[in-house]
Order: sequence, then structure tokens, then C-alpha cells
Amino acid sequence: MKERENVLLKVDNLKKYFPIKGGVFGNKTMKQVKAVDGVSFEVMEGETFGIVGESGCGKSTAGRTILRLLEPTEGSIYFQGKNIAELNPNEMRRLRKDIQIVFQDPFASLNPRMKVRDIIEEPLINFGVSDRREREKRVLEVADQVGLTAAQLSRFPHEFSGGQRQRIGIARALISKPKLIIADEPVSALDVSIQSQVLNLMRDLQKEFGLTYIFISHDLSVVKHFCDRIGVMYLGKMVEIADKNSLYDEPLHPYAEALLSALPSPHPLQMKNRIILKGDVPSPSNPPSGCTFHPRCSSCMDICKTERPSLQVIRDNHAVSCHLYDSPEKLAVAAGELK
Ligand code: SF4
Repeated sequence: MKERENVLLKVDNLKKYFPIKGGVFGNKTMKQVKAVDGVSFEVMEGETFGIVGESGCGKSTAGRTILRLLEPTEGSIYFQGKNIAELNPNEMRRLRKDIQIVFQDPFASLNPRMKVRDIIEEPLINFGVSDRREREKRVLEVADQVGLTAAQLSRFPHEFSGGQRQRIGIARALISKPKLIIADEPVSALDVSIQSQVLNLMRDLQKEFGLTYIFISHDLSVVKHFCDRIGVMYLGKMVEIADKNSLYDEPLHPYAEALLSALPSPHPLQMKNRIILKGDVPSPSNPPSGCTFHPRCSSCMDICKTERPSLQVIRDNHAVSCHLYDSPEKLAVAAGELK
């Protein structure tokens, strides 16, 4: 990708492996589950960067590792130029003000025994805002911004609908005035009609406060609607990164092509050929050699079975990790320079 000026977050070769223990005493690492395996991307200030892929591709683990809710196995996470993978717990706690997360299931992520007011206020206490009046003022402000009334703040989470609960989750994330919000499947648990309300709210808040989002989702339609740039993950790796239009109009990676072929065509008379992927996603504890997509790829070549392709820029803001684009001719065709 070409160098850009306003990079807010730069993730470089991020890995998160989970050990599988075994042996006589159960303390020997027998294998590693490579949930995130060398992911690199940048997120610009004020944009919405989508991470998309099937369930189990490592997208949620990547989100949690960026926030260091999970410790990275390897790699760097630069936020405003500072490598947060190297921060000690105190420094990290302070930085959490700037990076917040919104979870998929608003019910599971909200303490059912706490009133909504206390749920929203809690991060301020954790970040050391000692003035009670100031906290109250801020809670009311944020509740209003997400469309909750003052009266609703005295209720408990179970008294709210799914969409309203997600508003509470967003208010809680917003209260510390973060710069970056990692939204992990924030609308997947909601009805379609409610999804658009929550997405519109997130977009309004983005405009008002200059927020940057990492939007993690398996839903390609929602990602298309909401994101500016998108990274496609497969088995712990980023296989394609592109501007939304470039990706949806001309996907380059065979996996992205197959995923997108399942989307309905915007024009009813334009039929699309749906590409059915063969087999299942392999286990991340035993990923295939070379290109990990090769057992399922209809374009697989000999080199794909042994050599891992690197992510290479093919055209403006469009990078792909696939040996199909290794030859200068293919590159030129994909870049639109040759027919
Ligand atoms: Fe298919 Fe080979 Fe490209 Fe992998 S590198 S996606 S196997 S063509």
C-alpha cells in the first residue's frame, strides 16, 4: 500500500497463537492454533476499515489482540506512532481511553445487575474521573447522543430491546471520548430493520466526533454499506485489502471472489455466477502449506502448495496475497494496463 499521511493505527505482522497443551502432565505445548498469523494493515484517521471473513478466520481475535484484551504472540501495533504491543499494563490502561470496543452481543457484554447509568459511567471511574458531577453530566450527554432518555438510565439491561442494548454498549464505548472504536459484529445479533438504525447512529457519531472504526463482520452486505476500505481474512491471514468499490467491483483473490459471488446482484437482470467453494475451512492448528487457501482454490498451481504468497499491491489501494499475480503479465492485466 502506498504511504499515507494520517495513519491512526498500523498493525505489522501481528500473530496470535493459542497453545494446545498435552503430554503426561498436560503442560507441554503440543501444537499451536494460529488464530492470527502475520496480519498487517493500516487504518486511517476518520475512516471505517472493515475486516471480513467466515467465522473462525481470526477476525475477532485480531480485534481483541489489537486492544490487548489478548496478548499478541508477535508483531507490532502502532497507535498514533506508539507501539502499544510494548506498553506496560498501566500505560495500556491509560491508552484504553482512546481505543474502545463494542461487542456483538450487547446483552452478554452488559452486567445484568447494574443500572444502565452505572454501566455507562463505569469506564469513567476506571479512568480516574473522580468528580461525580462531571461523570453524571457526561453520562447524560452520551445517553442523549446515542438516543437514550434520562429516565431510561435508571433501568436494567433486560428491560431493553436488542437495538437499545447496543446503544448502551455504544454509549459505554463513547464515554471516554475514544479516537478508535473496534466494533466486533455490532449488528449481527439484531433484526435487519434495527441493524440500519444502529449503523446510522454509528455513522452519525463518526461524523460528529471524527471517530475511526474497525468494523469486524461476516456480513458482506453490511460491510459494503458501512466501510470505506476492507481487509478480507482467511485462516488467520489477510488475503486482500482494498477500497470498497475496488474490492466489490473487481475482487482479485479467488477466496474474496467466491465470497462476493454469493451477494445478490444490484441489478435484477444481471445474473451472477455463484462460485461454490469446495471443502471446509481447514483447522488453524494444522493449516495447509504454502497458500492456506490452496486445497479449496480452483486456480491452484504447483507453487501454491509450497510457497506462501505475500501481500502485494496490484493497483491503487488494492493489495492481494495470491501467486496468480506473480507474473508481470497477470499483474498488468489486474492493474488494468493490459487487456
Ligand atoms: Fe489460489 Fe494459488 Fe492464489 Fe492461493 S495463491 S489463492 S491457491 S491461485
